[in-house]
Amino acid sequence: MRITFKTIVTLAATVLVAGLGARAEAKLRVVASIEALADLSKQVGGDRVDVTSLSRGYQDPHFVEAKPSLVLALNRADALVYVGLDLEIGWLPPLVQQSRNARIQRGQPGNIDASSSIKPEDVPNVPSDQLRALGDIHPLGNPHYWIPPRNARAVARLLADRFAALDPGGVATYKAELARFEAQLSAKEKQWESAAAPLRGTRVVTYHKSWSYVARWLGLEEIGYVEPKPGIPPTASHTAQLIELMKKSGVKLVIADSFYPSTTARFVADNAHARLVAAPSNVGATPAIKTYFDLVDAVIAALKGG
Ligand SMILES: [Zn+2]
Repeated sequence: MRITFKTIVTLAATVLVAGLGARAEAKLRVVASIEALADLSKQVGGDRVDVTSLSRGYQDPHFVEAKPSLVLALNRADALVYVGLDLEIGWLPPLVQQSRNARIQRGQPGNIDASSSIKPEDVPNVPSDQLRALGDIHPLGNPHYWIPPRNARAVARLLADRFAALDPGGVATYKAELARFEAQLSAKEKQWESAAAPLRGTRVVTYHKSWSYVARWLGLEEIGYVEPKPGIPPTASHTAQLIELMKKSGVKLVIADSFYPSTTARFVADNAHARLVAAPSNVGATPAIKTYFDLVDAVIAALKGG
């Protein structure tokens, strides 16, 4: 092509128009606290949303390092999606406050607590302040709920509703993307359940109390935890008692989220003659786990020893 003045003018006009178009079609800026919620936001939001995650899937979501880049992302967000049930209490509230973004403060439409869509399990009947004082980091119930399909479906429906309220022009997109996601989820759910059927009734010990929803979904029986209480590091006496209990109960599987140090979990598993599984619990736990579907595939493969 011969570059003429006319070509340059035409190109410049095209770029200008494209730029204006992009501005008119500004995407909904969604910030998620963890990568699993970032992926569910993408699944439901399609090309109308621009999603970032504040933490990486290989990090412990209870403790994320506060960085200026996270405050900046929150400052620009139209919506904040978080796990809730106090999972992020140690790091997210100060960042939201520092963001000075009125749209994402508690009570605003852009503040999306994903736990409001699910039925929390392990809700203690002790006042939360009392439990928190004892070091229990699950004082409102168990926040590790995002893996079972039933909960992913509930969160996706909540996100579609809230995105539509924040971006009414996208209602048709959110509805269509949610329908596509739910169809894929229902198909995968059947596959996952039949793949995991041999695990039903398996007695397990987990490092942190982060596998209870998965255990109930797949019919695993939780016998104990390496942490004496959620968030309390293992002690020698608790570990010794746990190993005895595991031998008596025939526990053959120890599950630890892959971000936990494996030393104590390995010690417990070896002494009780059980298999240790360092299982991914979030999108991004490994580079291959790019979506919610990849995550559940990887969890079931890990539990089965694949
Ligand atoms: Zn936890």
